[in-house]
Amino acid sequence: MQITFWGVRGSIPTPGPATVQIGGNTSCVEVRAGKAILIFDGGTGLRLLGKKLAKEAPLTAHMFFSHVHWDHIQGFPFFEPAFVAGNVFHLYGGNNVSRTLEETLEGQMDHPNFPVHLGTMAAAMTFHTMAEGETVTIDDGEGKSVSVTSARGNHPQGVFAYRIEHDGHVVCYATDTEHYEGRVDQKLVDLARDAAVLVYDSQYTPEEYAGKKGWGHSTFEEGAKIARLAGAKRLVLFHHDPTQTDAAVRDKEKRARAIFPDVVAAFEGLVLEL
Ligand SMILES: [Zn+2]
Ligand SMILES: [Zn+2]
Repeated sequence: MQITFWGVRGSIPTPGPATVQIGGNTSCVEVRAGKAILIFDGGTGLRLLGKKLAKEAPLTAHMFFSHVHWDHIQGFPFFEPAFVAGNVFHLYGGNNVSRTLEETLEGQMDHPNFPVHLGTMAAAMTFHTMAEGETVTIDDGEGKSVSVTSARGNHPQGVFAYRIEHDGHVVCYATDTEHYEGRVDQKLVDLARDAAVLVYDSQYTPEEYAGKKGWGHSTFEEGAKIARLAGAKRLVLFHHDPTQTDAAVRDKEKRARAIFPDVVAAFEGLVLEL
């Protein structure tokens, strides 16, 4: 598998001189497994991924949404390959707040919020509502398959974390989830079991978290706990708080490295090969 980070910021895009190294785009991660193209979340980083994918048309891709908070869907109306006939997209997500993924993506592009309606996007789109614990199996185009399994995290209006398995490798994508006080989230530990890479919501430092309880986000310390219990090899700090400058994210990474051996703070353009 190859994992590429196109957007690593939480909550709202943060362009500007203080964030040029880490990047200011919101959540979007590309996973290549054989010839299969998987995309996790459609934050503003999706626009940049779309520019790259435009060169690969016609293409088929599978898009998994953790949830539909703005920072995870806002890049979708600017995703060029979705406007191109001949491209095929399978979109997966849970039912959030009594609306389906399709209804939410449609609503985001409805007047007066946006001038172009979802229905005018020319690519073929099939929406799949995923249940918790469901596994989706995708042909990798090279005689093997890649599987994606969901588990619910702890986040206002709900969230799915995903376990991706291919060719003996495991990646776990767990963004927008808050740890529980006094107990570990066993569901996430199980989902991340033996992962080569655990991408985890590390929005806050423990000090910042103290004033943000109940907001649905976690810390690098809690990420290290989950990684250790799951036997995950590498911890990727993800969904950086918009207030964190490049220096602040680097400091977070340094502190995380003191408590877990293999840590990297996600930045735009980071590529991991398994
Ligand atoms: Zn988010
Ligand atoms: Zn969220």
